[in-house]
Amino acid sequence: MRLLIEKIDALYTCDDRRSVLKHAWIVVENGKIAALGEHDSPDGDFDERIDLSGSIAMPGFVNAHHHFFQTLTRALPRAQRGQLMDWLRVLYPVWSAMSPDDLAAAAAASASELLLTGATTSVDHFYLVPRCDPSYVDAEVAAVRDAGLRLHLVRGSMTAIEGDLEHVLSESLGPRAGGIIDEPGPVLADMRRMIERYHDASDGSMLTVALGPTTPTYDDLGFLRAVAKLAAEAGVGIHMHVHPQDRERALCRKRFGRTPIEVLDGAGILGTRTWLAHATRLDSDDMALLADRGVGVAHCPRMILRLGARIPRIHDMIVSGMRVAVGVDGAASNDSGSMLGEMRLALLLHRLCNGGGEVSPDAWLTPHNVLVMATRVTADLIGRSDIGQITPGFCADITAFDMRGIGFAGARADLLSGLLLAGDDTRASLTMVAGRPLVRDGRLLLHDEHALREKVDRAAERLVAHMTSITGVDYCDFGGQAGH
Ligand SMILES: [Zn+2]
Repeated sequence: MRLLIEKIDALYTCDDRRSVLKHAWIVVENGKIAALGEHDSPDGDFDERIDLSGSIAMPGFVNAHHHFFQTLTRALPRAQRGQLMDWLRVLYPVWSAMSPDDLAAAAAASASELLLTGATTSVDHFYLVPRCDPSYVDAEVAAVRDAGLRLHLVRGSMTAIEGDLEHVLSESLGPRAGGIIDEPGPVLADMRRMIERYHDASDGSMLTVALGPTTPTYDDLGFLRAVAKLAAEAGVGIHMHVHPQDRERALCRKRFGRTPIEVLDGAGILGTRTWLAHATRLDSDDMALLADRGVGVAHCPRMILRLGARIPRIHDMIVSGMRVAVGVDGAASNDSGSMLGEMRLALLLHRLCNGGGEVSPDAWLTPHNVLVMATRVTADLIGRSDIGQITPGFCADITAFDMRGIGFAGARADLLSGLLLAGDDTRASLTMVAGRPLVRDGRLLLHDEHALREKVDRAAERLVAHMTSITGVDYCDFGGQAGH
């Protein structure tokens, strides 16, 4: 299969020289980039020619953090006005009732939304596996494979949940909060099984696996050590939510005389194959230690706004030497799974750190910084050396956006700046994975978008009604004391 992509207005390669080619073309052969250049397209026979006049193109985005299952509970009124704990209190019961088929619908929709907005590979941090039932992961893998997205599956775990939630939820849902809290032994065994069954480390792989306790279990360092040992033995990465709260700092100081990041280091969690989601509460010492260990971060700016969290010191992390990537986060703490939308916000949000006016404009990210964060930096964090840039020999994972709309008028001095700062359309004019076009002109080529959405809607409606019958909670009520 030989394919020519031509007449690209500007091609941002993200190669080692960060080359930007004008009036560019790319030759794709057997799923790999074969050649690229500027101006006159090469002669020869091609099975297909794709004309990208008016578009800019770049490597497909690599999404560093997501929870596909949360697509079942987007924009739920009862979960809209609450910080993390309130939000979890509302949503854990609904998530506990999902079936493997519900998850498959959510995964297909999440993967498709990512493809439509330029992502070609995604992490899915799947930490809530009811009753440790392996058929959930099987259902997700099949759905994502069917969508055509490359998947970096983080087989997660949740051996404890926040505060008094286990007690509160178990009263209505049954033991272990309705089966969503894992026992360490069985979940470790399932992690091992998932690596053996699904982890494919070969060049061009469509599915790789990492391990990821959802949050650090400072009460059970033995479990963290076991996860770290298994990951090291299997040669896979580790991914966790880490944003050390004051109570966690106090706990670690009292129990170990160390900071939470030092405790994670002692448990063997920190290394070059580890990346942390959010990292909103790191101080300079934390950053220095994480940088020294080669740990990366998945920055998810919309979650910060959605849950009223603290804005992370992204610019300081980068200065300290940490690798910072971009992720959309779970679909219930974002409500949008738009990768391009997340990149637009990543470009801006960190400037408001500490209330605004505190971050020197010299330290503000540029559009090209954000593009590199969302492509080759994430690829590096998840251990891939075959994706994330448009260079001969790399996988032909490419996305492009049509810049001819009115939203981009006057924003042509640098087309990438135009894409990330102007316009409101996030749909790609082309997304291809391994040389296979999956999106053209903002539409899915393999699936009926409306049918995918309807499937999720039906599952969501049934889940919410079922859980209302058990908990008595009206999930369509906004709660609190809204005015007007
Ligand atoms: Zn998350």
